[in-house]
Amino acid sequence: MLKVGIVYPASEIYGGLRGFYDYGYLGHLLKQSFENAWRRYFLSLHENFWEVEPAEVMHQRVFVASGHLEHFNDPMVECTRCKERFRADKLIEEALGISAEGLTLEELDRLIREHNIRCPKCGGELGKVRWFNLMFPVVIGASSLELIRLLKDYLATRKESLLEQLRQRLDELERSTAYLRPETAQGAYLLFKREFELHRKKLPLGLAIIGKAFRNEISPRQLLIRLREFTQAELQIFFDPERWSSRFSEDFDFSEVRNTRLNVLLVKDRNSGQAFRELSVQELVEEHGYPAFYAYFLAKVFEFYVDVLRIPRSRIRLKELSEREKAFYNRYHFDVEIWFESLGSWKEVGGVHYRTDHDLSGHQKVSGVNLSVRREDGSEFIPHVLELSFGVDRNIMALIDVFLVKETVGSKERVVLKLPPRLSPIKVAVFPLVSNKPELVSKAREIYNLLRREFPEWKIVYDEKGSIGKRYRRQDEIGTPFCVTVDYDSLKDDTVTLRDRDTMQQTRVRVDELPSLLRSSLSS
Ligand SMILES: [Zn+2]
Repeated sequence: MLKVGIVYPASEIYGGLRGFYDYGYLGHLLKQSFENAWRRYFLSLHENFWEVEPAEVMHQRVFVASGHLEHFNDPMVECTRCKERFRADKLIEEALGISAEGLTLEELDRLIREHNIRCPKCGGELGKVRWFNLMFPVVIGASSLELIRLLKDYLATRKESLLEQLRQRLDELERSTAYLRPETAQGAYLLFKREFELHRKKLPLGLAIIGKAFRNEISPRQLLIRLREFTQAELQIFFDPERWSSRFSEDFDFSEVRNTRLNVLLVKDRNSGQAFRELSVQELVEEHGYPAFYAYFLAKVFEFYVDVLRIPRSRIRLKELSEREKAFYNRYHFDVEIWFESLGSWKEVGGVHYRTDHDLSGHQKVSGVNLSVRREDGSEFIPHVLELSFGVDRNIMALIDVFLVKETVGSKERVVLKLPPRLSPIKVAVFPLVSNKPELVSKAREIYNLLRREFPEWKIVYDEKGSIGKRYRRQDEIGTPFCVTVDYDSLKDDTVTLRDRDTMQQTRVRVDELPSLLRSSLSS
C-alpha cells in the first residue's frame, strides 16, 4: 500500500506521527471514488436525504449532551517498565483469543493478573487498568502553551505570586476548550432543527456527512484500521417511530428487499464455528423480531457492498452485537464486517445503529432548545434516529485487501488490483507502442487528448517510458481497467488495441468508437 502511492505515514520526513496517514494521489482518487459511490447510492434511497457539511470543531457542551466527555473512554493499561500504553481489552483479546469488549475495569484487571499478561513490547509488568478519554481538545483564543510555560516557571521557582496567574489561565483554558468531533454524527443532530424546517417539516429526513473525525486512540495500529484522524461517511435518518412501526411501506418499498438474502452472524450463533448464516430479510423480521425499517436498511447496506463495491458474498457479514457490546442507547446494532485476508480476521467497516431519540433528547436537555416535532394529529415527539455509519479508511483498506491479487500468467507473476472499474483511480492509460517513433508518439498523444476532452471527470494517463509489457504491469498494479496502445497499424487504419486489465485480452478498436466503448465499460 505504501509503495504505490495509496497512503504514507504523516509527517514522514520527521519520523511520522502514530495514527496519522497521508493519502497519496492514488489513495486520494480511490477514496474519492468510494465516497462518490457512497453518495450516489445512499442519497438516492429517498428524496428527502441530503448531504451537509458541519464544522469539525464543536462546542464543548455538544459533548456534555452526547455523553462523550463522560463516557467516551477506552480501558488503558500502561507498562510499568517501558511506559508504553495499550488498550487493555485488545491486549487481552490478542493474548487469550476471547472477546473482551464491554468488560469492566475490574474484570479486565483480573484477566491480566490471572493469565499473567505482560507488556508485548518489553515483557514488563502492566499497571492497573484505567479509563482514558478519547476526545481531542482544541483551545480557541487562549494558549495552552502559555499555561505550560507558567506551570514550568512555578515548578522551578515555587513563587507564590505565579499561583494566581496560573489559576486565571486554567479557568480561561477551561472556558475556551472546544473539541474536534469524534464522529460526524453530532453535526447532523445539531443541524436537524434548521434542515427539518427548510425541508417543509417532513420526515423521514436524512442528513449525510462525509468528513473527518478525530479520536485520541491509545494504540493506533494496523495501518488504516485504527487511526487518530480518519474519515467517516454517515447517514443519520430522522423518523417518526410511530409511523415506521406500522406504515414504513408508505415511505420505502419493503417488498423490494423482502427476499434479499443476507449473511448474518447472530449473537446466539457466535460459538457455532460458522462465520455467518444466510437469512432473508423477511426471516429477520418474522423470526428474529427486527422491525421492517431496520431490516430494510440492513439489506440496503448489504446490497451496497455486494452490488456497488462488488465484495464477494463470502467475505462480508452483518454481525449482531450483544447487549453488553453495544452502546446503551443503541436499541439495535449490527456491525458490517469484511474478511481481511492480509490480517486473517473479520474487521468492522461499518454499522447500522438504531439510536432511538437518545441524541436529540440529549441536545434538547442540555441546550434548552425544543427539538420535538408535531404530528398532524397534534401530538408531539422527538424524532428517532437510524444511523448508517462507515469508516472510509477501513473500507479503502478492505477494497485493497479484497481486490489486490497475485496471479501467475505463464511463467510470470503479476500483481493486479481488480477493482470494479467505477472505483479505479485511473480509468484509462494511453501508450505508443515504442517511444522512439515520432509518428506513434504524436498519434498516441492525439488520442490521449481526445479522451481527456471526452471524459473530463476521469483520470486518464499517458506513458511512453519502458517496455510495453512493463507499462501494462504498472497499470495492472494500480487497477487501471483499460490500456489503449497505438501501434504501426494505427497509423494505417485509425485503430488501436484496447487491453482489458482482468483478462489481458487485446481487441482492435476503431478510434471513433473508442469513447462510447469506454463509457459503457467503465460505468460498471
Ligand atoms: Zn513494556
